Amino acid sequence: MSEPLGLGVEEPENRNGAFPRLDDQQRARLRALGKVREVESGEVLFRDGDEGYDFFVVESGVVAIVQGYGSENRVIAVHGPHRFLGELNLLSGSRVYLTAVVRDPGEVIQVPVAALRALVAEDEELSNIVLRAYLSRRSILIEAEAGVKVVGSRYSKDTRRLREFLQRNRVPYQWMDLETDAEADILLRALGVEPDETPVVLGGDGVLRNPSNAQLAAMLGLSSRGAPPAMCDLVIVGGGPAGLAAALYGASEGLDTQAIDAVAFGGQASTSSRIENYLGFPAGISGSELAERAGLQARKFGARLVVPAEAVGLVREDGHFAIQLGGGETVNGLTVIVATGAQYRKLDVPGLERYEGVGVYYAATQAEAQLCSDEEVLIVGGGNSAGQAAMFLSRHAASCRLLIRGGDLGKSMSRYLVDEIEGREQVEVCTHCEIVELKGEPALESVVIRDRSTGERTEHRAKALFVFIGASPHTDWLRGEVAMDEDCFLLTGRDVQDEDLLAYGDERPYFLETSQPGVFAVGDVHSCSIKRVASAVGEGSMAVRLVHQRLATLP
Ligand SMILES: Cc1cc2nc3c(=O)[nH]c(=O)nc-3n(C[C@H](O)[C@H](O)[C@H](O)COP(=O)(O)OP(=O)(O)OC[C@H]3O[C@@H](n4cnc5c(N)ncnc54)[C@H](O)[C@@H]3O)c2cc1C
Repeated sequence: MSEPLGLGVEEPENRNGAFPRLDDQQRARLRALGKVREVESGEVLFRDGDEGYDFFVVESGVVAIVQGYGSENRVIAVHGPHRFLGELNLLSGSRVYLTAVVRDPGEVIQVPVAALRALVAEDEELSNIVLRAYLSRRSILIEAEAGVKVVGSRYSKDTRRLREFLQRNRVPYQWMDLETDAEADILLRALGVEPDETPVVLGGDGVLRNPSNAQLAAMLGLSSRGAPPAMCDLVIVGGGPAGLAAALYGASEGLDTQAIDAVAFGGQASTSSRIENYLGFPAGISGSELAERAGLQARKFGARLVVPAEAVGLVREDGHFAIQLGGGETVNGLTVIVATGAQYRKLDVPGLERYEGVGVYYAATQAEAQLCSDEEVLIVGGGNSAGQAAMFLSRHAASCRLLIRGGDLGKSMSRYLVDEIEGREQVEVCTHCEIVELKGEPALESVVIRDRSTGERTEHRAKALFVFIGASPHTDWLRGEVAMDEDCFLLTGRDVQDEDLLAYGDERPYFLETSQPGVFAVGDVHSCSIKRVASAVGEGSMAVRLVHQRLATLP
């Protein structure tokens, strides 16, 4: 008989609450919900590829968590007495990608997942312990590259696409680069995969050859299960903070709620490494953790979250709305909340992403002002937001340079702001400029600027670079259906012009309601939005209240 897996492996330390031990009282509460049973060495408690699994607490003995059980046999961790098994997918319902196999025989408490979910909703102490552990474990597994494998070349666009999709959805994965990893080639030959069939994704017993994002999401079980009902009360398009808040409030207030996102839940916020200005998180919180928590919370109340599902059209039909999706399907809803956000335009400078949040900023608030107090600051952009930022930051920074590509600040900025800037000694306006290089390790220290008229390059010290070169809303799919401002952001409430209100008859739209009765717009996609996580969340929750009012008017 072969040796049990994980022999000689130590239990991982309880880093960030990832691997706590439950005390006697906590285990007694779990025993009451499930059963205690003996387990044998080699017994599998759950296996990669399974659709779901129960919650297990080890009473005695040791359980190994294994990647590629039976083939690769990589032991990710072992858990001894009073530790519990599982990770975020137990609560989110996505597919299992690791196997739990008993190393040393003993006893386990086995709690059905439905009972665990109910407990998490009621037992605050256990809920905090389990949730914290699962969130930390997910981060550890991402770092450890445990989970599905992507085998593909670094030069392949599809490899990049799949990796980005996994990253944005916080799915742990290992990438084997065909260009540098000899084992990748061996693995492909063993699987009978031809080079032109790459990239491939391996997970459980499945091999997906250059899958679409939708096929990969189906393999991972990322979306809520089951087809949507013929008619939802509320469909939310876009799953950033605004959409997640709307999903949470919609479902918790009894509406049949379906939220869809083209790529991943979390939106732009999940690309922020630390959000410092969101209420209730004095130490800050990473955008992806905020999104993970919000997604779990919305699902807990029964919202269906579906990725990837890109809305490509909206049609009013017989007293409801049909949202057409990229894959050809349709989701029907009595009301719609549009929360598709906007994409900040970014500078085309190598390595920009590395400095985002540590020197490159897209907002100028008190928090950023504090970071660059008495420092030299650069601001890029010729519009009003750049001008306002220059005026505000010049009160805090040692000096501010406002860089514009053209030769005339007055071309795209309001006259009053131009006058104020010209009268402010601390602001220097630099025309015909473009940024060509960012320098500094690990944070931004200097910026190389090229004069577009002479080609001359100069290096400037700068702790902070503020970029205000516009944002484009994701509203192409709504063109002709709802009223927009000149930059294609959605108009709502009183901002909708009279000539666009025909569908209302004698009525007026509610605040946050667009020119289509029953279609609401929240968050960054909304004209004149604040572009903050908190305001997006606030609008998402407010819109649900107005959805109730609109539903009450329907026949
Ligand atoms: C790097 C960075 C750092 C930031 N830091 C902070 C900060 O510290 N504090 C703060 O308050 N704000 C911060 N912000 C701003 C904040 O993230 C946004 O204001 C907020 O995310 C807006 O939320 P939203 O839900 O309206 O839109 P988004 O977050 O943009 O989400 C929109 C979602 O809609 C989806 N979508 C788009 N089109 C479609 C379609 N056709 N069909 C289906 N889905 C679609 C997208 O995939 C996306 O997930 C930051 C932004 C960035 C980029």
